[in-house]
Amino acid sequence: MSEFALIQQHFANATLSHPDTVLGIGDDCAVSQPPAGCQLVSCMDTLVAGRHFLVDTPAYAIAYKAVAVNLSDLAAMGATPYAILLGLSLPKSLANDAWLGEFCRGLVAICQPFGVELIGGDTTGSEILTISITALGFIEPNQAITRHGAKVGDLVCVSGEIGSASFALSQAFLGVVSPLKHTLDLPMPQVRLGRQLVGYASAMIDISDGLAQDLGHILSASGVGAVLDLDKLPTHPILQKLPDTKRWQHQLNGGDDYQLCLTISPQNLQKFQQNHSDNIIYPIGHITKEPTLMLTAQNRPIDFDIGGWQHF
Ligand code: ADP
Ligand code: MG
Repeated sequence: MSEFALIQQHFANATLSHPDTVLGIGDDCAVSQPPAGCQLVSCMDTLVAGRHFLVDTPAYAIAYKAVAVNLSDLAAMGATPYAILLGLSLPKSLANDAWLGEFCRGLVAICQPFGVELIGGDTTGSEILTISITALGFIEPNQAITRHGAKVGDLVCVSGEIGSASFALSQAFLGVVSPLKHTLDLPMPQVRLGRQLVGYASAMIDISDGLAQDLGHILSASGVGAVLDLDKLPTHPILQKLPDTKRWQHQLNGGDDYQLCLTISPQNLQKFQQNHSDNIIYPIGHITKEPTLMLTAQNRPIDFDIGGWQHF
């Protein structure tokens, strides 16, 4: 199949068209009309077969996750997702209707609930399957929630269970299909919560590389430290059965959770809970002046080696 037939058949009109799109797939560029006064928020994430996902991952899950991790970055800024661009480097063996059909099905499954449109991309042949997604979103002027706003006395919170995806990955390496595998393959970006936290959270990040490392980015950007109470980490019952150090390894150093980690003043947390009782966030610690990350459990300091995922 030619590159053009392939694009035409699978990617043009794959997703719903977004009202802000003037011109979608098919020309040299897409043309968009941002909502009046809004700022453009953009990010890119690249997934390489064998590095970011196991080579036998189904096409559906690859596409889904490639989009989800980008929507998660938009969520972590408090932005409303608008559209994606897809860079696809495809081995010949996968350039067929069956694989591309499944890939598009996964893409649509994650785009549709958020009203996100595929407005363009680029397709090339390659030895290794690589998916690079650029995501675009909008936010009201100067409302984006950055990493550098954490203040001493703020609470550190997360949006949901931590460590499940890392545990599922460790099981996959052992050849075991974990009941938590969906958290690894099909993460749910916290877009709605991210939006709701605009005006409340002082800093925010999504947890892709592990809680310790990602919270570490907030701490160093904000010039502060934190104390975490590991007993307060939201934890799936399966992980609760693990020995402490194994569980903490997944929760602190394991990646791929795509929950939000945020800081918020106690007053704003109370207001948030009153105004958004449908959405729960979990306080797990607080921000300190001392610029270190201190871990406690059962009210005692814990000595635990914080690693996090290193790419190089
Ligand atoms: P050009 O040669 O001008 O870069 P292309 O032939 O690469 O154009 O692309 C033609 C159209 O198809 C463009 O609108 C482009 O955005 C779109 N396109 C190409 N590859 C993809 C893809 N993987 N996903 C979505 N749109 C794509
Ligand atoms: Mg091109």
